[in-house]
Amino acid sequence: MTTESLGVGHVVKSESPTIPPTNHTSSQVVASTIPDERAMGERILDVRDFSVDYGWGESAVRAVDGVDVHLDRSMVLGIAGESGSGKSTLVYAITRLLRAPGVITSGEARFNLGSNEDGEHVIDLVTASERELRSLRWSSISVVLQSALSALNPVVRVGAQFEQVLRAHRRDMSKVERRARAAELLGLVDLDEDRLDRYPHELSGGQRQRIMIALALALDPQLVIMDEPTTALDVVTQREIISELFELRSRFGFAMIFITHDLSLLTELADEIVVMYAGALVERATARELYEAPRHPYTLGLLDSFPPMHGERTELTGIPGSPPDLAHLPTGCSFHPRCPFAMARCAIETPPLIEIEGSGRSVACWLQVVDAGAAVPVELSRVSASNASPSERVTEVSS
Ligand code: SF4
Repeated sequence: MTTESLGVGHVVKSESPTIPPTNHTSSQVVASTIPDERAMGERILDVRDFSVDYGWGESAVRAVDGVDVHLDRSMVLGIAGESGSGKSTLVYAITRLLRAPGVITSGEARFNLGSNEDGEHVIDLVTASERELRSLRWSSISVVLQSALSALNPVVRVGAQFEQVLRAHRRDMSKVERRARAAELLGLVDLDEDRLDRYPHELSGGQRQRIMIALALALDPQLVIMDEPTTALDVVTQREIISELFELRSRFGFAMIFITHDLSLLTELADEIVVMYAGALVERATARELYEAPRHPYTLGLLDSFPPMHGERTELTGIPGSPPDLAHLPTGCSFHPRCPFAMARCAIETPPLIEIEGSGRSVACWLQVVDAGAAVPVELSRVSASNASPSERVTEVSS
């Protein structure tokens, strides 16, 4: 496993001045992960006015522009958008895993570690020290990358990679207990213990990705970030892994940020979805609302680009053109050169992100601004009929 990408190399000392120490054995770790109903619904991550540039000075390119996102404990936030939309940059910057020339230029990312006798313990990840970040990575926030091949160390056996993480954070565990915990984690993702003695290249792509998920859960994190974790896999394996993943989330109650360009997949799995285009947030809604009644033409285009996981076959129309060059964004609405509903105003003025009719959902499109007077196309004015809970949809996916 590359240590920088997931912070293993930094996590060599477990004590932190700011985070209450945990001191549990393998079985206690599992017991402690059962979701506490009182904690559910509490905000775990609050990101405001967050901007990221690549480069400095006049050559700087804005990759994330003033984004606000939030996530409640035990919930799933989906982030959708094409390559270059800023979705991965956003989460790597929030977790401070972004490498130069990426620079956070504004905003805060408040992570809530929970409450103890001293009250709520919130830390701003943007201003946190390296020491605080080291103690958070793996134990409170973990990341599963798109390619397990580039995340796992190719010359170290799988068992030793679990050993490295557990030894750094669970100093009270014996070698035997660490081995047992690693085997237990593999069991969670349906892999036999003998995989611990293999090198990553001796395993299939699906097995490697399962190992990454097991590693991400090793220290009972409160937030797991999945950056297109199944994109490189075939459809059948992708489906199996996603079902397992959501079963684990129901069991252990961690919150999750799931990044993908496949919006249809997100509508099945997430509680809330944000759609990004050219570094900006263009729509935010619950998964069901977004699926049934998209309000932004780009969201509609993304939905029409992938077949739904359930229901009738639909014609895939996609989105014409390519994402814009961030160094030379179009004027006005940056989606206007590709938008089938673009008006004259769209090429001149940038639409603000506004809340629709007190619904809690937001969109950045002139079509949805009431006093702009534009006729809203029927595709973008559908009524969301159902409020079925996301857990029901996850059950569907698992079945
Ligand atoms: Fe299309 Fe105009 Fe809306 Fe942009 S503001 S998405 S160009 S209709």
